[in-house]
Amino acid sequence: MKLVSHLLDDEWYARYKRISRLNIRSSIYDVTNRCNLRCKGCFFFSSDEHKAAPEEMDLTKWERFVHKEIDRGVNLAILIGGEPTLCLDRVEAFYKRVSTFCATNGLIKLPRDRFPDLMVGISLWGDETDEKTLRGKDAFSISSKHYEGDPYAYYLYTLTPKQIGKTERVIQKIADAGLKVHLQLLSNDEGVDGFSWTPAELVDIRAEMDAMLDAYPRTVVSSKYYHEVICTGRMQGQRFGWQACPSVTITQDNRDPQPRRLTNFIRWASDLETTHRCCTSETRDCATCKDGAAHMSWVMVNKRAHMNSSKDLQNWIEVYEMFAKLYQFIPW
Ligand code: SF4
Ligand code: SF4
Repeated sequence: MKLVSHLLDDEWYARYKRISRLNIRSSIYDVTNRCNLRCKGCFFFSSDEHKAAPEEMDLTKWERFVHKEIDRGVNLAILIGGEPTLCLDRVEAFYKRVSTFCATNGLIKLPRDRFPDLMVGISLWGDETDEKTLRGKDAFSISSKHYEGDPYAYYLYTLTPKQIGKTERVIQKIADAGLKVHLQLLSNDEGVDGFSWTPAELVDIRAEMDAMLDAYPRTVVSSKYYHEVICTGRMQGQRFGWQACPSVTITQDNRDPQPRRLTNFIRWASDLETTHRCCTSETRDCATCKDGAAHMSWVMVNKRAHMNSSKDLQNWIEVYEMFAKLYQFIPW
């Protein structure tokens, strides 16, 4: 292993110093068990996580809970669901107290007078045909009107095998709406016919993701190394899966040996007491997991594995910067 300062020139070293100060400590919160969509392949409903615990209805308990989480060291609250915008008071309980990110399907417009700079990640599951197949409606046509030109919103575009060869049209529509996009891969938790990845399709989609990043660098928030890691499930000779995953709830993590992992990470159910196994589906076979945030975090917690060459460390910095941009720790 070499020293950081020996591996980086001045420009890369300045980028490294900027992110090394951040010390991001995230946890994830189910704001509600309800949603105004029912997407085929939604990890939350397909694993019955919506039945894990009843929602806490008392807002003061949510406010007290947020304070306890801050005391636990959390400095980034990632709100998911269900659909968080169905419960704006709970969203506000976080937003007023801690750096907050809100995942949404975009069908309900977040009121910007109440949440002026809350970063929202709008889920998008393909083009109009895919969205109708998987989500029952073309959600983009609604969400893009709600968030057009919004500097605190971006699309979380879940790529499916059916999107190979079609992503440019979708990304162009996002660019036309004055928004940015981050790419991730479907894990097909409900086994919808034709939506599971074959090795050849993963090769093809990786090439397409790279091409989109080259063609739309101001719209696509990504890195080629992230594409490599998520499409191959490999990083510096290691393989992604249960034993390597960084995003396991700390109180449920009985792995031995312990991998490098997110500090004190917990995914909380909406009763504010129950926890889920990890950042995504409770029942997913880890061998099939394509969760984007878990793969990003896997890279981020493994800095040492990237200290063998300048290129490896630059790759690590780019993934870290991507994460920091997506959660508003550094500007776009
Ligand atoms: S919008 Fe999100 S939470 Fe709702 S069903 Fe679809 S994937 Fe699940
Ligand atoms: S399903 Fe994915 S995120 Fe969850 S523990 Fe397994 S590998 Fe990690």
